[in-house]
Amino acid sequence: MSHHPTIAVVGSGPIGSAYARLLLEGIPDARVVMFEAGPQLTGRPGESVRNIADPVEKARARELSQGPQAGEFRASLGIPSATVVEGMFTARQGTHLLDFGGEGSAHAPTFPAAAGATNVGGQGAHWTCAIPRPAFSEKVAFIADDEWEELIETAEGLLHAQSAAFADSAVGGGIRSLLEEEFAGELPDGYGPSTLPVAGDPQPDGTMRWAGADVVLGPLIEPGNPLAERFELRDLTLVRRVEHDGDVVTGVTVEDLRTHETSFVPADLVVVAADAFRSPQLLWASGIRPRALGHYLTEHPVVISTVALDAEKISRFATEEQLDEELARRATTAADPVAAVNRIPFSEPDHPFSLQVMYSETTPFPMEPGAPYSDNRWGYVNMGYGMRKFPRFEDAVTFDDAEPDYRGFPNMTITYELTEAELAEIQAATERLRRAGNALGVFVAEPRLMPNGSSLHYQGTLRMGDADDGTSVADPWSRVWGYENLVVGGNALIPTATAMNPTLMSVAIAVRGARKAVERLGAGAEASAVA
Ligand code: FAD
Repeated sequence: MSHHPTIAVVGSGPIGSAYARLLLEGIPDARVVMFEAGPQLTGRPGESVRNIADPVEKARARELSQGPQAGEFRASLGIPSATVVEGMFTARQGTHLLDFGGEGSAHAPTFPAAAGATNVGGQGAHWTCAIPRPAFSEKVAFIADDEWEELIETAEGLLHAQSAAFADSAVGGGIRSLLEEEFAGELPDGYGPSTLPVAGDPQPDGTMRWAGADVVLGPLIEPGNPLAERFELRDLTLVRRVEHDGDVVTGVTVEDLRTHETSFVPADLVVVAADAFRSPQLLWASGIRPRALGHYLTEHPVVISTVALDAEKISRFATEEQLDEELARRATTAADPVAAVNRIPFSEPDHPFSLQVMYSETTPFPMEPGAPYSDNRWGYVNMGYGMRKFPRFEDAVTFDDAEPDYRGFPNMTITYELTEAELAEIQAATERLRRAGNALGVFVAEPRLMPNGSSLHYQGTLRMGDADDGTSVADPWSRVWGYENLVVGGNALIPTATAMNPTLMSVAIAVRGARKAVERLGAGAEASAVA
């Protein structure tokens, strides 16, 4: 163990950032080097692009995050530029499909919408910031409730959780009241319609400053802060291999994507938080191949819809004057169309779904001028249910050593299937979505099940478990089984079937992993200081 431990973190999303922060705060003489394959988008590393007011700059930041589908990069690979045709899958802004067609593309015919973001801040620069707590069977069975509660609170602090965002919106309140009436008596106490907890800081003008990896990094990116001196972020630097000598990890081999120079960076601890597809791919490429690696893939099947709020229904709870006030306030911050965020959380046994209800002035798709409800004064509700996928070994990303992908890594193939168990829950949730929509207004986009991969919440491929029995990749402290100093992080660790947005849970799991690593490395550093 070196006197000043060096920690290599792979990936600069919220999870890699949580590790960097907690390890530097916990080990006074440690150094963290964070490697990120994509570019830095904003002056402040990892900031949410939703905070960028200028639409041209915002579009540029999103394009830069789109890896193989970013214009220039795509052209250099000989892939035709993205002309969107009907029936073609496209990725959400800021992300890129893993199966993008052409040479070097992954194969994901049964999971076509699988996507990632390649930029400082990862998907966390583009996310919606919804951070509900996992509940009931969504939680990890082998972590005791009181410890879990504290881990979640710490994670909420790191993400700047805000449980009452837009709570003063009269229209938002009206939406909750209408949903309460519709589902009265069907939901357990405390699990009815409520404001959706989000990551961000409310501003005096009524808007949110949405949180990205920047808030998680916190003092590490504050000029002059002593922690910042021990932190280094290298963007456009691809980690090609985690090097190891038997069961001890020695460091990482990285490629500077600007110069294409490759070098070895020794490390006492390596944290891999490079998303649920690219983390297992990196481990595989490094010859670290536990049986469960890439398997037990889950996500949230999603049914979504858009509803025009009905004036008569909503005006039982909000007045025309209140709407005028809200519209005037929102007109000053047109860059962010979200005006209220509500939800009905997951509960058992009867509501194993998570409903997200976003109130906005606009629809997420263009409407024909003159079409019914195309100019709805009371605005629109974009809402959808997230549902469960039960983990099975056969749902997996697998890797082919013989076929390199566009980065030269063993290419990915995703195999995935919804079974009767999921289809029954999808049907039940779709019925509820129809009821919720009718309670609020008129559907301008009918409920529809999105293609597999659309949730962007990919879980299970680095599953954590309490026994090294082939059904998990990591131990209860996120260490890869058999490697004392290799830690993995991200939604991929989540072992359960969940319906809620996963980032808060993954940060909580990372807090537990980071504390264990601090204990081990911190003790080692102290021992060597004494010697
Ligand atoms: P990521 O944020 O994906 O970061 C991983 C990083 O690793 C990437 O930047 C990637 O470039 C980098 N990387 C990969 N391979 C390498 C390598 N070999 N070397 C160096 N770097 C590498 N979650 C929620 O909980 N709530 C939401 O409301 C929500 N909404 C979302 C909306 C959108 C549009 C998107 C895109 C995502 C959303 N998510 C949401 C998901 C959320 O963003 C992720 O859960 C979160 O970002 C995961 O954090 P992470 O650090 O594990 O991985």
